[in-house]
Amino acid sequence: MTITRFAPSPTGRLHVGNIRTALHNWMLAQIAGGEFILRIDDTDAQRSKEEYVEAIRADLAWLGIEASREERQSARLDHYQAAFDTLRETGRIYPAYETQQELELKRKVLLGRGLPPIYDRGALDLTDADRASKEADGVHPHWRFKLDHSEQIGWQDGVRGAVKFDPALLSDPVIRRADRSWLYMLPSTVDDVDMGVTQVLRGEDHVSNTAVQIQMFTALGANPPSFAHEALLVGTEGKLSKRLGSLGCDSFRERGIEAKAIIALLSRLGTSLPVEPIVDRAKLLETFDLSTFGRAPAKFDDADLDRINSAIVHAMDFDAAKDRLPEGMDEAGWHAVRPNISTISEVGDWWRLVTGPIESCEFSDEDRAFLSHAASIMNAAFEADDAPWAALTSALKEATGRKGKALFLPLRQALTGMNHGPDMGELLPLIGKEVAHARLVQAAG
Ligand code: GLU
Repeated sequence: MTITRFAPSPTGRLHVGNIRTALHNWMLAQIAGGEFILRIDDTDAQRSKEEYVEAIRADLAWLGIEASREERQSARLDHYQAAFDTLRETGRIYPAYETQQELELKRKVLLGRGLPPIYDRGALDLTDADRASKEADGVHPHWRFKLDHSEQIGWQDGVRGAVKFDPALLSDPVIRRADRSWLYMLPSTVDDVDMGVTQVLRGEDHVSNTAVQIQMFTALGANPPSFAHEALLVGTEGKLSKRLGSLGCDSFRERGIEAKAIIALLSRLGTSLPVEPIVDRAKLLETFDLSTFGRAPAKFDDADLDRINSAIVHAMDFDAAKDRLPEGMDEAGWHAVRPNISTISEVGDWWRLVTGPIESCEFSDEDRAFLSHAASIMNAAFEADDAPWAALTSALKEATGRKGKALFLPLRQALTGMNHGPDMGELLPLIGKEVAHARLVQAAG
């Protein structure tokens, strides 16, 4: 069975980049009939906040990305300790005592010599006596995972193809701090083993973590899952954008963006498939395939999102919209207004043309006479025909010889207070005979 996971650290709100990762992992599980786990990576007690855990849940729920179950790292610390003990016994974890400053100096020296800043494993040269003396001085070690330099690392990446790493070119990662708290690397691996995760899909900023973790899986006696790393999202300006890092569900909601528009866009952004306003998830799932993912950074453009959102709103059924429409707005109202909006939040502005009050416009004497004539035949237009606008305008055309703008614009202005707006054929029956009559009379002065 396919098991995927989305593992956010609750140190902030979800942003568009991690929403995309969550979505893709959910999709991978869906197409395989598998499970999608929400795993809260909250080992960093200082920076993790319960309000962010709740916000992550709420955002995923709003997006319709539903987890099969939720796990929390803070509830699994004994598992990490057990793995730590095992790896220590087998010599894959070792204590190190360098201070931040010492490490920084080592880095600078290497960089100064034009060498990669790889940790020199100085801690492995310490004798028992050296360690005992550090401890006696009250220095607590941090802990590193010892990479096996004799074992070349390679995997077939779902997006990047064959990836190879020489472990000798990587630093042994620090996995635990001197205060005994955990860094990301080991808990994540332990969880992926214990939770039976079969497929890890995450951003390409994790590629070198994957190299390390593959050795951790093996050291823990487990088979690594399959890995895929998607290219990162960039803003339209072409570089990693700060703005994208803060762009989340709240700002989308404020802008009136539908969750479905985000899903449609993020399902295909960065793939070779066209980004289309597809609301049917089954259709998005049918075409979802890691082999369509490109390696170039995917460009996130607000204009694409707006375009997708408008198209989705224009095609939205009354039933899907009705809970968010102004009171009293029925299906005919929705259909009249729908083509004129790009977000549902704009509905109210147009619906006011029906419910009033409307703006009053200035008319010439000639137009006032024309509108007065229109008022006098409004009753007849409503009675003669179930399409009162067509009846009204054709009668007026015949009687006055007006056509085009001269015919339509004063009527639209008098009936709605606007120069443009929803189709008058749909709007007039909604305004109704009496109100329409009154507005014409008012405009005719
Ligand atoms: N908590 C990690 C992050 O947010 C998870 C990375 C992973 O998917 O393993 O970057």
